Formats: sequence, structure tokens, C-alpha cells
Amino acid sequence: MAEARDLQTPQYDAVVIGAGFAGLYQLHCLQQMGLSTTVLEAGSNVGGTWYWNRYPGARTDSPSNVYQFLFSDELFNEWQWSERFPSQAETERYLNWVADRLNLRPNIQFNKRVRSAIWTAENASWLITSEDGSQVSARFVISCMGPLSTPVVPEINGQDTFAGTIVHTTRWPQKDIDLSGKQVGVIGTGATGIQVVQTIATEVQSLTVFQRTANYTIPMKNDVYTTAAPQQADRSELRHRTRETFGGFDFDLEQREWASVDAAERRENMEHLWAQGNLALWVGSFAEQLLEPAANKEVSEFVREKIRARIEDPSLAEKLLPTDHGFGTHRVPLETNYYEAFLLDHVQLIDTNAEPIVRLTPTGIETTQQEIPLDILICATGFDAVTGALTNIDVRGRDDRSLAALWAEDVRTAMGMQVHGFPNFFLTSSPLSPAGAFCNAPTCVQHSVEWISECIGYVLNRGAAIEATAEFEAQWVAHHDEVANTTLIAKTPSWYTGANVEGKPTRLIGYAGGVAAYVAACDQVRDEGYAGFSIY
Ligand code: NAP
Repeated sequence: MAEARDLQTPQYDAVVIGAGFAGLYQLHCLQQMGLSTTVLEAGSNVGGTWYWNRYPGARTDSPSNVYQFLFSDELFNEWQWSERFPSQAETERYLNWVADRLNLRPNIQFNKRVRSAIWTAENASWLITSEDGSQVSARFVISCMGPLSTPVVPEINGQDTFAGTIVHTTRWPQKDIDLSGKQVGVIGTGATGIQVVQTIATEVQSLTVFQRTANYTIPMKNDVYTTAAPQQADRSELRHRTRETFGGFDFDLEQREWASVDAAERRENMEHLWAQGNLALWVGSFAEQLLEPAANKEVSEFVREKIRARIEDPSLAEKLLPTDHGFGTHRVPLETNYYEAFLLDHVQLIDTNAEPIVRLTPTGIETTQQEIPLDILICATGFDAVTGALTNIDVRGRDDRSLAALWAEDVRTAMGMQVHGFPNFFLTSSPLSPAGAFCNAPTCVQHSVEWISECIGYVLNRGAAIEATAEFEAQWVAHHDEVANTTLIAKTPSWYTGANVEGKPTRLIGYAGGVAAYVAACDQVRDEGYAGFSIY
């Protein structure tokens, strides 16, 4: 049911939900346009992902030169990164600095978790209600809640009886948790679990890692920068470059065809990309790796060989080697000494397929084969990705239609920018755009925010509302599916396909046509006066 409308509610031109990379830049753009804007942020400070994910070892897998704002010479020249792959703490500091440098804080309301967003046709505005009951109304809403903000927490029998601490990595407390000398369990070996395990292994008394699926990884080459080192590139060239590549990085897919290059040269190419210590082997190599089983098998075997070389114990190697999916069909994490953690006597790896978790007890966890004493259980179990943040809010568009109900059937968007039936409601890091899954986040976030801001500017004097047409949305969904269905990623269950959340409709959540093609498609729509959108 729609909530009662309070006519006394203060009016804004725009409400932005979330104060991470996207929300901060969105606020800045709207402020520059002279629009009255407020940001509602669930946390007590800015940072988004980098505010919430303060678990041990959290850091970026994207190099700092492209994992930052590239719209401003001042921001680019005044900030000095200390590492190639910055830690959570440094990235959070950066976003706090940006918020101050651009004077954004006065227009951000903290501790406001949005509960509902209801479209009122009579005055063409959205009424936004937060968990604390406060309300704001605005003509435009821009969702900047990030693709990975709604945690998936496993339900384990006996959970209520456990006397220790259970924590999901994305809810790691501000005051931190002292793990030294503790008996710790970690469930999950995705990008997050890997970072946690490699970081805490030497600190804890005992560590039990519960793995359901082994992952491919690439060793991170993390250079430390001296304070004297300047930014190593031309900002506007970097900004331009990142938008014309497949993954929003400053490297791109190999231009040659996989089959046109002989095996020895392909091997040399893989070695070269491996040595970069970044994600280039994944989204900077042959496109066929992600499309064709033979090419994928070759790179998968290459990476398995690299991992195998680091693990002497064959039975441990067998557990840690991924064999049930191909390289790059799940997100590839970067790691540092991850495999070496399992060589420590107090670290054990449990394959939950062979030895499932049965229950939690007051003192630990019980599997089918043993009882393991635990003080702390860390759930690195992932997210209801890309859609979860929005479906957890009661978003009601025209004719009281519910976004959660629509997406429970079929996750559809028009270029990831809007959903038909939801006028003036814009999305960032959204389904069916590259930003949600296949893009260096700041690249796509900046592009989306700029597109949305221009679009709002265009609509302001032309009508009360803008809305994607059903036809345009259907065209985009069909195009998205056509591209998705050529990939091996769409055929492999993971959070990319919605398979990690029970009952979630299956569709590749991110646009797999690449950032460059996506940006060109968005530019075309804009240049044609927002063709595919109706203004009324
Ligand atoms: P994830 O990739 O979804 O991994 C979750 C892990 O938990 C998987 O190993 C999953 O196993 C396991 N799991 C979930 N429920 C389980 C259960 N009930 N029992 C046993 N195992 C269970 O989540 P994530 O590691 O948090 O990463 C999500 C995304 O966040 C990444 O793909 C990446 O895009 C982003 N991220 C980025 C960075 C970075 O840039 N440095 C760091 C962390 C995360 P299955 O695979 O079998 O489902």
C-alpha cells in the first residue's frame, strides 16, 4: 500500500539515495546545475561500499589511477594515492576528502535508510520515506545505492544458540573486531572471503575456511607509491580512454582473434598479462576466452597450473583448484599469499560439498565430520547483487506498480537508466548496464551520473516527467539478452546470473557488450533527444 502523502513535506528538485562514488558525484552535478538536492544515506558518513566493507583486508581490485574521479583536474591533481590498489581505509578517506573538497556535506542527510519511494502523478513528484518516518518529496530520484550493498546471510541451524559473534563482511563494525588469538570461521571464498582469509590467517589462533566453490585468482601486484610520485597520466586522456574499453579500465580486450594466434604466442600473451598483477588476463585478453569453450579451457588450465605450482600438498591443491566453472565466468579476485595461508598448521579448509555444515552450537560449528570450536563466524557470503538494494525498498511507480514485484518476475531496465512505469526515477550501477557487474565502477558510475544529469537538464523545461517507453525497454532487454547469450558467463551460475539468491529470476545482471558500446548507445539516445523516452 502506498503511504499517506504529507503535503507539508519539504520539496526538492532531486533526491539522491546513497553517498558513495555515484551519490557524491550525482549531488555535485545537480548542485552545479543549481538544483535543490538532498542525499539520503543509510550510513553515518559518506563512502558507500567503502564505508560499509571495513572487513580485514578490504581493498580495491582496480588500480587507483582509474579507481577515482576523473571529471576534475583539481581532484585528480590534489590527491596522492599511496598504493596501486588502495585499502578500504584509504579509499574511504578519499571519498571523505572529495565530499569536503566539493562542499557536499550540507546536502547529505546521514542515518536515513530509505523505506519507500512513491510516485504521485498529480504533482509529478516522488515521496520518499525513511525508516525513521521522515519524508522528503522531489521531482527526480536517482538511486545511487551501489550494486553490492544488500548482504546475503546464510541461515544455519542453531544460529540463535551460538554464543560467539556472527558478522557479515559488509556489516563489519566501525569499532572493529579484535581477532587476535581467536578461533575464527570464514564462510565464502569469493573476492571478499579471499581478502579476509589472507589477511587474518597469521593473526588468529585458528582459522577454518568453509569453501563451496574454489575460485580462479590472479596474484595482485601492489606497488607502493612514494608521496612524491605525481599522478601518472593525463586526466582527460584517462577519462576518455576508460570509456572506450571493454571493462572501463585503461587496458582493453585483445584485438586479434584467438584462433589467428598460435598456441605458443597465446601462452606468451597469458604470461605477459599474468605478470601485470591486475585484471587484464580477465578483461584485457582475447574476447573468445569469455565466449568459446576451447579458448576458455586454455586460459582456465593456465591459471590452474599457476595455482597448482604454489601448493605442494596434492589433496589441498585438489580442493583449492577450480574445476566446475571456467576462468572469468565468476568475478576473478586478485590475491596476495592466499594459498600460503592454508599451509599454516592452524588453518584448515573445509569443502562444504564433501563436508556440509550441519549446525551452529553454543561453542562452535558442527559439520558432518567434526565439531569446530569458534569464537567468531565471518560470513563472506556475498550479496543480493544489483537489484537487492532497490527491491528492499517499496518503490511504487505509475498506477501503484511495484518495482520489487516486477523484478521478482523479470529484471528489466531501459539501458539500466530507467524502468518503464517509473517516471523521473533514475538508476546507477543498475541491471542490464555494465556498471552493475562488468565495469571498473568509477568509470561507469561517472558516465551514468553525467548522462542522468544531462537528461534531467533536458527535461526541466520540456515537461513534468520523463519515462522510458515500454518499446524501448523491450528493445534494450532483447539486445542485452542477445549479447549475454553469447557468453559463457550467462551459462554459469553465480551472482552475475542471480543464482546466488533463491528465487531470483535468472538473467545476466550486467550488460556484456562492453563499456565502449554501452557509452555509444547512451550517447546516441541523448543525441536523438532521448529517443526511447517519453516526456510528458
Ligand atoms: P561472492 O562472490 O558472491 O562470494 C560469496 C562466497 O560465499 C562464495 O564463495 C559462495 O559460494 C559462498 N557462499 C555463499 N553462501 C554460502 C553458503 N550458504 N555456504 C557456503 N558458502 C556460501 O561475494 P563476495 O566475495 O562478497 O564478492 C562479491 C563481489 O564484490 C565480487 O564479485 C566483486 O565484484 C566485489 N568485491 C570486490 C572486491 C575488490 O575489488 N577488491 C573485494 C570484495 C568484493 P558459491 O560460489 O558456491 O556460491
